[in-house]
Amino acid sequence: MPSVNNTIQLITRAEAERQGTRGRPGRAQESCDDDLAKGPWEFDLAEALAGTPGYGPGASNADTAPVETPRQGQLPQEYKDASDDELTARIMAAKAELGDRVVILGHFYQRDEVVKFADFLGDSFQLANAAKARDAAEAIVFCGVHFMAETADMLSGAHQSVILPNLAAGCSMADMADLPSVEACWAQLEELYGTEPDAAGRVPVIPVTYMNSSAALKAFCGEHGGIVCTSSNAATVLEWAYERGQRVLFFPDQHLGRNTAKAMGIPLEHMPLWNPRLPLGGNTPAAMDNAKVVLWQGFCSVHKRFTTAQIDQARADFPGVRVIVHPECPMEVVDAADESGSTDYILKAVQAAPDGTTFAIGTEINMVNRLAAQYPQHTIFCLDPVICPCSTMYRIHPGYLAWVLEGLVRGEVLNQITVPEATAVHARVALERMLAARPRSVQERAERQAAARDRRGTAGVREPAAAGAPGA
Ligand code: SF4
Repeated sequence: MPSVNNTIQLITRAEAERQGTRGRPGRAQESCDDDLAKGPWEFDLAEALAGTPGYGPGASNADTAPVETPRQGQLPQEYKDASDDELTARIMAAKAELGDRVVILGHFYQRDEVVKFADFLGDSFQLANAAKARDAAEAIVFCGVHFMAETADMLSGAHQSVILPNLAAGCSMADMADLPSVEACWAQLEELYGTEPDAAGRVPVIPVTYMNSSAALKAFCGEHGGIVCTSSNAATVLEWAYERGQRVLFFPDQHLGRNTAKAMGIPLEHMPLWNPRLPLGGNTPAAMDNAKVVLWQGFCSVHKRFTTAQIDQARADFPGVRVIVHPECPMEVVDAADESGSTDYILKAVQAAPDGTTFAIGTEINMVNRLAAQYPQHTIFCLDPVICPCSTMYRIHPGYLAWVLEGLVRGEVLNQITVPEATAVHARVALERMLAARPRSVQERAERQAAARDRRGTAGVREPAAAGAPGA
């Protein structure tokens, strides 16, 4: 079965239908941008000539890239000219020569042509942790986007270098919140709410950043009593935050924040949206008085594409279809879907489903099509009938992977991502708080058990020895 990128090539040559490429059953194949058929290096060059960064073709094409966005220098011509087979041979040869000295990590949203070389495939946090499991690797090649490589750098050993094959692989959502804007917001919130805790010891605001943010913002959270969350643990993290604070500043993804807070029972009128370009985020003081969660006005351009009309169409075409969407989708889409969850949740749902289940999935197309290929016992298609991959994930191509791996073989570390230790030390605090946070039910059970142990200890009552235990 052709990959997403092969399908895009076929679409631009109007051959996709004739060759029976997979996609939404019964729908014509269409991509959102013919430029997706080009090599990503064409956009490195275009940006160099224009002097402005961009995200390239795909879902975030229309987003404005900040001027400080890293730019990728020119990929040597030999990698641009190489055929797919030649690149495969060169990557395999470099991998074999490097052996355990290198580990390649592939995000779920990467193209199949890159994922096939990955030692680990997963979401950003799973991959950052996977790097730790390969301590012998001197180099971690992260086929994902910039904030993921930063997290891997902060969680990996000092002897390991983290490499991002194309520096232009950022994340438009992560770029929607930068440190100066968040600091300016924080100053206004401090002026509004003060800094003193209430009678229960809860501070006025706890900052919570989504994993999809720069290391500088994770460090801001670490320094200001805040925490990081992922799409899997956002509810647990908000519970953690409300135990310590009266309200939350959630950035950069408004949709994950809103969907999570709403599921926890927080009314929408207590969730003002913060536009960083306007005083008080564009809100009245009265609206801010009621705030339980202040939502940063950021979004993912991939997940913003999903609509309730697509869900209606899927249900009309496939009665009984199971609709699962990612919580980065807008609230009305999450509300209309049967289920919502992280990439890991989606994967496990597909794995656990009885044979013959039909799924309409609202997340990035590379992951959805890979699931369709790996689980042929089901009918799986992307809720969005238009093929529109993440623009920045698209910037990683096997040509860049071959280039950085052959650099390592020569002893040259190309495109290293390094987080300054002054930032990393605070960012790790916010990450560690996340790792220690437990869902309330688990937390309460642990506290009850600890209290029971304390009571027994005070009363001098010995814990009964387990049968078969030493000393029993
Ligand atoms: S899918 Fe969305 S959140 Fe993920 S890297 Fe792409 S733009 Fe960023």
